[in-house]
Amino acid sequence: MFRLQRYFTITSFIAFILMAVLLGYFYRTLAFADLIDASESKNVALAQAFSNSLWPEFAPFVAAAEGMTPSELQTHSRTQELYESVQAQMASLSVVKVKVYNLEGLTVFSTERDQIGEDKSNNLGYNAARAGMVASELTFRDTFSAFEQTIEDRNVFESYIPIYSPTGDIEGVFEIYDDVTPLVQRLEQTQRKIIGGVVAILSVLYLVLYVIVRRADGIIREQYSALQQNEAALRLARDEALAASQFKTRLLANVSHDMRTPLNAILGYAEMLQGGIYGDLTEQQGEAAEEIIGSSGQLLHFVNNLLDQAQLNAGRLKLNERPFPVQWLLDDVHSLLNLQAKAKGVTLTSDVAPGVPETITGDRYWLRQIMVNLGNNALKFTPVGDVHLHVFMYDDGHWAFQVVDTGIGISQDVQMKIFEAFERGTPPQNGDYLGSGLGLSIVKELVSLMAGEVQVNSEAGHGSTFTVVLPLVTSSGVALPGE
Ligand code: ADP
Repeated sequence: MFRLQRYFTITSFIAFILMAVLLGYFYRTLAFADLIDASESKNVALAQAFSNSLWPEFAPFVAAAEGMTPSELQTHSRTQELYESVQAQMASLSVVKVKVYNLEGLTVFSTERDQIGEDKSNNLGYNAARAGMVASELTFRDTFSAFEQTIEDRNVFESYIPIYSPTGDIEGVFEIYDDVTPLVQRLEQTQRKIIGGVVAILSVLYLVLYVIVRRADGIIREQYSALQQNEAALRLARDEALAASQFKTRLLANVSHDMRTPLNAILGYAEMLQGGIYGDLTEQQGEAAEEIIGSSGQLLHFVNNLLDQAQLNAGRLKLNERPFPVQWLLDDVHSLLNLQAKAKGVTLTSDVAPGVPETITGDRYWLRQIMVNLGNNALKFTPVGDVHLHVFMYDDGHWAFQVVDTGIGISQDVQMKIFEAFERGTPPQNGDYLGSGLGLSIVKELVSLMAGEVQVNSEAGHGSTFTVVLPLVTSSGVALPGE
């Protein structure tokens, strides 16, 4: 069963967490990009302001700095003046350090005096500014020296900015360190609020969805258990039906089988009586013996059909296919039916058409059964006239067995159902046509077991033709087209 609630809980939890993290990340990326842009613009503006106010005065000092030792620079009176001017201008600003480099990368001035005289000519930021670009970086510092004091846990934004002369030439480089800690803190605060808000909205959404999913999950569970119950009930009903059917088939087979022996005995003794083995019979006794023979013959035929049907139903019937001469089979069936035909005064003829192989492979016993069932019907339903048994080649790969009679025929609507078990076209109360309604259903099942088909061509009052078409199999078991 699909566990909707579990899948929903896991996947939506992961999805919501991902959404909150991604949203926070995107906000932070965009906000920091804005912060960097804004801080850089601010540093550039500050540098411009410094250079406007201080540069005219200090440019000659910067130009002359080359060649001085770091300690000369640190103790130079101009350095002190510059320091005071910068400090005065920075007093109300967030700038925490200012440095000035000459064109050779020498630190001519720094608000942190120890750094004066350092060589920055290999610094990437310095070189970018030296080439006319502004280079900036945002860093977090545990400790930072600002105007001779140390500040802690600061976000510092530093920019290297070129200083231009009135003629547009680069004359030096400013480095400004801006303390953007309050800005970063505000930004992080906003980020936390956004994430908090998103988490709150998603939680509400999650709760609403959870309620819906829980309900749906309940419905799925209910339906699943109902389905299982139904399946179990169906299985039980099927098993019971199967057991009942098997029981009936077994009963049918056993009863039919056990009835055959006494029936054969009755038939045999009645025939012996009729034949005078136990002495001569009076006319009345002869008629009684005739009646016993006729009725027990019919009963035996019925029992045989029941047994065949039971075997077919149980799926126990296995074909035993062997080569046999067709003419022998036909003669066998002919002589069996001829007694009945003669007794009724019906003419029975048979023939094997030219072109039929002398030997055909098949189950002779069951083929005989098919032919006898069809022949019996033909004789039964032909009060006067002829019955003809005909074997011929249906087409290149099939041979056929046909029973043609000139009897009462079968109407179209009756033809539709005569191949079903226990279906009888003629009303059972008509004593002339006794039967079980099993003969044709057995024929049909046997023929389909042999991969063939049975056709009927008939019209009420104009006789019937039953044709059984079967694949032609040679003795090697392979169909022989054109043989
Ligand atoms: P049964 O002959 O025992 O009634 P079958 O299954 O052999 O059962 O035949 C079913 C029905 O088909 C018969 O009751 C009869 O109405 C019809 N039928 C079969 N063969 C013929 C035939 N040759 N002529 C007329 N009707 C036939």
